[in-house]
Amino acid sequence: VTVDLCTVAEEVITMLEMKASEKGLYLKLEMCNEAFVSANRDRIKQMVINLVDNAIKYTESGGVLLSITKDAPFIKMVVSDTGIGFDDTHKERLFERFYRVDKGRSRVQGGTGLGLSIVKHIVLLYKGKILVNSTPGKGTEFEIYLPGNE
Ligand code: ATP
Ligand code: MG
Repeated sequence: VTVDLCTVAEEVITMLEMKASEKGLYLKLEMCNEAFVSANRDRIKQMVINLVDNAIKYTESGGVLLSITKDAPFIKMVVSDTGIGFDDTHKERLFERFYRVDKGRSRVQGGTGLGLSIVKHIVLLYKGKILVNSTPGKGTEFEIYLPGNE
């Protein structure tokens, strides 16, 4: 099935904008064009939800931006936030099941540590890739590449 990532991203924003505005955060789809991927719609939506949910959860001021562009042969999605970030020592284990950066804080925040492992699983299922860059106290950026479908 062909999934329009722009529509999915808009749906996820509609779904999570209350959660963002309750914290005084912006949540915006910066740009989106030609973003068709051949995948299961529900899985793709779950992937976007998990990333945006994290971005809101681990951000205290500023907000979250999504951008979706064509980077042939891939569709590139960037989810960036102005949140708490984490240092490079966590990068390697971040996508492991149950891994959480700050155990004390994470207990207060709630969650199981499964979100990103599911994201990675979905990305690999569709032969994509995922990259992350983060700076403590500045924010985090996830880049997801999925094979495009003309
Ligand atoms: P769950 O998603 O199961 O509710 P979770 O959010 O703790 O729980 P993951 O989504 O797998 O689990 O994320 C793993 C850990 O990575 C988080 O606990 C958090 O420490 C860190 N993390 C994920 N996304 C971000 C982000 N955008 N900014 C800062 N830290 C993040
Ligand atoms: Mg999560």
